[in-house]
Amino acid sequence: LSERLSGVFDRLTKQGALSEEDVKTALREVRVALLEADVSLPVARAFVKKVQEQATGQAVTKSITPGQQVVKIVHDALVDTLRGEDDPGKLKIDNPPAPILMVGLQGSGKTTTTGKLAKRLKEKEGKKVLMASLDVYRPAAMDQLAVLGTQIGVDTLPIVPGQKPVDIAKRAKQQATLGGYDVYMLDTAGRLHIDEVLMDEVEQVRNVVDPRETLLVVDGLTGQVAVEVAEEFDAKVGITGVVLTRMDGDGRGGAALSMRAVTGKPIRFVGLGEKMDALETFEPDRIAGRILGMGDIVALVEKAQETMELEQTERMMKRMMKGQFNMNDLKMQLEQMIQMGGMQGLMGMMPGMGKMAKQMDQAGLDDRILRQQIAMIQSMTKKERANPALLQASRKKRIAAGSGMDVSDVNKLLKMHRQMSDMMKKMGKMGKGKMLKQAMK
Ligand code: GDP
Ligand code: MG
Repeated sequence: LSERLSGVFDRLTKQGALSEEDVKTALREVRVALLEADVSLPVARAFVKKVQEQATGQAVTKSITPGQQVVKIVHDALVDTLRGEDDPGKLKIDNPPAPILMVGLQGSGKTTTTGKLAKRLKEKEGKKVLMASLDVYRPAAMDQLAVLGTQIGVDTLPIVPGQKPVDIAKRAKQQATLGGYDVYMLDTAGRLHIDEVLMDEVEQVRNVVDPRETLLVVDGLTGQVAVEVAEEFDAKVGITGVVLTRMDGDGRGGAALSMRAVTGKPIRFVGLGEKMDALETFEPDRIAGRILGMGDIVALVEKAQETMELEQTERMMKRMMKGQFNMNDLKMQLEQMIQMGGMQGLMGMMPGMGKMAKQMDQAGLDDRILRQQIAMIQSMTKKERANPALLQASRKKRIAAGSGMDVSDVNKLLKMHRQMSDMMKKMGKMGKGKMLKQAMK
């Protein structure tokens, strides 16, 4: 994507804000990228439309191209859509024994994922886990789970030939209760396609154990099919989350986006290989970068934004040291203070200043004051901001009225500005700026 987009980027003009045309041109390419990543057409369309609305009219950031900026906006919107839960790796497994039902099509990776999750629960959360295979159609499937169990040191329910899935589920529940297990995982049978028999069977099992989590395991490489599967399983048995497997492959993971957009179900884990520890908690920004094939662009855009802020601060510092600290600079400083969590936030971060922050709070010295000061500066004309010495009594009155403050407040602001300005000048002379420059590094 990056390569194809760069051509488009070059043609984009630099104006004050992203124009509708700029955004449209860039988004056309983004849409193609989404489709190539196997995002379904309606989802890609809806997504692009949403971003179009978000991006048009946004102020252009100086040190990056409009095209890069659009890509950044797209990336952030993707992450936003993909994010389902704050902590997707946290399974609901209180009230032991907690049943976890694993569902999905044949070959999607259910048995493998059951083992991986059991290992994770055991090692990361110290849980006592029991696994049971309900796959009565392929005898090898039961052995497969037993082998995995031995390998990772997790118990499996003894195999009793001839039992129906529902009966195995009941037995697992009983065994888990008697044996003092925290969790029991039911690895169900799959089919090549969704059919009634499979669904009825899973539904019966669900009714017997009332699972705390029902995780749908889908092959991340199957794109559109994965979404249909998710919809059907959710409609029939209800799922609490999705595990995307084979994300170690070449696929771009578009299924993740479609899945989120269509079913609204959170993606919880990602399978990254056949080994038992190849399972990771789902991270939306990773998949977003992968879908767009552009992890590097995002990094670049972030870097550019940082540079821009730094440039701005440096320019301000230079002017300040020459005694040219005007009201615009003061406003910028006040805004930065609010951004950094206000005065208390700033002081709270400094060692030994916590008490002072509290006192300031009691004295009513909080963000409100910073905002009032900003409002007063905003009520000044351009000329006045550049040169506050221009402010006569009548103008001060107007500023006070314009910002809903008293003239005495305006005077206080001007005095603060004068004091700061003097101090900067002195510091500038003293160390020829070395001190401040040092402080900035
Ligand atoms: P089930 O039929 O749904 O139980 O699927 P299995 O768990 O038996 O997995 C089918 C095949 O996919 C096995 O060969 C697994 O090793 C493989 N597999 C499962 N998960 C992953 C994964 O995340 N990445 C890769 N590369 N292979 C996987
Ligand atoms: Mg299996």
